[in-house]
Amino acid sequence: MSEDVMPEPVVDVGGARELARDVLVVPDRRLPLVPNIGVIGGRHSVLVVETGLGPRNAAKVLEFAAGHAKGRRLYLTTTHFHPEHAFGAQVFAGEATFLVNRDQAEDLKVKGPGYLEMFRGLGEVVARGLEGVEIALPDVVYDREYDLDLGGRVVRLRATGRAHSRGDQVVEVPDADVLFTGDLVEAAQFAIFPWFPPHDTDVSGTRWLAVMRRLAERAPRVVVPGHGEVGGPELLADVRDYLRLLRDETWARRDSAAGERTIVEEVSALMIERHPEWTGREWIEKGVGCLCAEHPPPGPDPVD
Ligand SMILES: [Zn+2]
Repeated sequence: MSEDVMPEPVVDVGGARELARDVLVVPDRRLPLVPNIGVIGGRHSVLVVETGLGPRNAAKVLEFAAGHAKGRRLYLTTTHFHPEHAFGAQVFAGEATFLVNRDQAEDLKVKGPGYLEMFRGLGEVVARGLEGVEIALPDVVYDREYDLDLGGRVVRLRATGRAHSRGDQVVEVPDADVLFTGDLVEAAQFAIFPWFPPHDTDVSGTRWLAVMRRLAERAPRVVVPGHGEVGGPELLADVRDYLRLLRDETWARRDSAAGERTIVEEVSALMIERHPEWTGREWIEKGVGCLCAEHPPPGPDPVD
């Protein structure tokens, strides 16, 4: 996105709305580099999901969450380490317990500084939003699963395994049947493949598809995507179907030894035809690149 059309990635806590009793979303207002943010309350504690980009957004989120909590204990978690999701966590230090899965903690530590530099290079608006960022490391780290008791409500934090990033995590509120997916799901947008070889090749189209199959099967009532409108289980099915088609169309052309340029052109045209209203068309090419790298050597067809 060019500098002159890039709006400020500002979180507006005034737009918060309740999805279920004491489960709030601060919507992204369809702004680039603004995530959907969650605030989930129980009797004695409140969990915030995502910080927004940079300390100024995070300070607003913290103030909003503390006002909503009214003295209840605060927790923070992030769905993955990408800047608009996690690069504000420093503001929560001393105010909230920051809790994430181990792979994400590792991403923050190992890849955080490089992403900070890369995002600062995206232009003045983003660089300004990232002013003063120090990458905060979590207070509590879990391996695969963590059940967080908020008092009369247990929230399930689940590491999904490598998909959109190495350390993706989803957050489930079982009693309200709400699922926060982070960037595993974007509504009305082509799946974001942060495929930047040789610097970052953690995203995996095949593993992502496997994760989406599992999530779609559970069909939660409410799905809060990383970006885009809150919806229902159809959001999960949409991403699953898109990733499957992207893989099948890419691999079919790879099997017939088409060059990557040709594959990108043909598959992009096909996907845009299938989803003319979806944004983020630039991510199709990245997805094709990733899946070309994941193309298996000649052998039996995949069983799925
Ligand atoms: Zn992301």
